[in-house]
Amino acid sequence: MALIVQKYGGTSVGSLDRIRNVANRIKTLRDEGNQVVAVVSAMGGVTDKLIAMAKELIDEPTEREMDVLLSTGEQQSIALVTMALHQIGVDAVSITGRQAGISTTGSHTRGRINAINPDMMKNYLKEGKVLICAGFQGLREDGMIHTLGRGGSDLSAIAVASALKADVCQILTDVDGVYTSDPRVVKDARKLPEISYDEMLEMASAGTKVMQSRSVEFAKKYGVVFEVRSSLNNNPGTIVTEEHDQMEAVVIRGVSIERSQALVTITGIPDEPGMSAKILMCLADAEINIDMIVSNIAYDGLARHSFTMHSSDLGKASAALKPCIAQLSPDSTILTESGIAKLSCVGIGMRSHSGVAAKMFEALGEAKINIGVITTSEIKIAVTVDEHQIEDAARAVHEAFNLDKAPTA
Ligand code: ASP
Ligand code: MG
Repeated sequence: MALIVQKYGGTSVGSLDRIRNVANRIKTLRDEGNQVVAVVSAMGGVTDKLIAMAKELIDEPTEREMDVLLSTGEQQSIALVTMALHQIGVDAVSITGRQAGISTTGSHTRGRINAINPDMMKNYLKEGKVLICAGFQGLREDGMIHTLGRGGSDLSAIAVASALKADVCQILTDVDGVYTSDPRVVKDARKLPEISYDEMLEMASAGTKVMQSRSVEFAKKYGVVFEVRSSLNNNPGTIVTEEHDQMEAVVIRGVSIERSQALVTITGIPDEPGMSAKILMCLADAEINIDMIVSNIAYDGLARHSFTMHSSDLGKASAALKPCIAQLSPDSTILTESGIAKLSCVGIGMRSHSGVAAKMFEALGEAKINIGVITTSEIKIAVTVDEHQIEDAARAVHEAFNLDKAPTA
């Protein structure tokens, strides 16, 4: 008998049929003698619909009321899943975030979990009940209803698994696991049996969004091993865990792509302390998220900086930068380029293998794909390419590293 914590996302509970499917899956685990706690999201689309309704009433709803409103999405789905379980004879009970003892801190709509008191959950489990717990919500220290940010049910599930010291934690979703690359682009992309927390985080920041990154960070911090798998079949998924020695034998774990990127380059920046800060500050004030930052050593006393962002932010970025650049130097110019995409190779094996970048760039060169900017972290090499070439680029790099074949350790 194991204590299993599962999380079912919005798609997995997106219709009454899907809810029945979830109930059947939980019943199977229960019949096998396991204890089950299922953390559930709002039905797919419900949270978005609630946000849209609020915005129709008022331009800027208060965040307090948004928390009260959005937390109802999960409350609907826990009751419905529990009813579906009752219908097939499973002794289940729904619990809200507060009842699960999830206490939070931080501003409204952006809660962080600071503690979980699992007493009530433990009592119910002792009574033999299956628990259906609302994701995405908790009770703030001051007694307010609080939500955890979009996609926050992942975090609830990982935190509940940690607090209950669950034997198994599964994130059930509409994909089969984490793949070496996007299977819609690279047809021989392979499902990974396991991936380290850090690789998962780097791949998420590089465009492979399987689950909320904050929850992966939380899992890493508290050592919660979990599996990402499909709620629509019984295939084994991908285990996300602490890295171990054998993992380093693989140089590249995956190739991520991110489309719709834009590049901004500022030239003629005086080579003086504080200049980069001024430029980035004006982008931060305009609430623009930038991704890759590349700067060159100054030549003739003038430097140039480039950074990438989502292309939808490009207009806002140019507008914010113009007055700020004019103040820096009369020689500064802003160059913009849209229609680019980012390709990233991720793998902890990079730390111990050399020649990874050379091999990646060679594959791109042979495929006649020009590289724009290049950035690296300890376990990631990212480049920009023309957006219309991104799929060819992903396929070329995937093949160069033989990612379609299971590694022979
Ligand atoms: N219902 C929330 C959202 O859509 C939380 C979640 O699904 O994880 O963001
Ligand atoms: Mg969701």
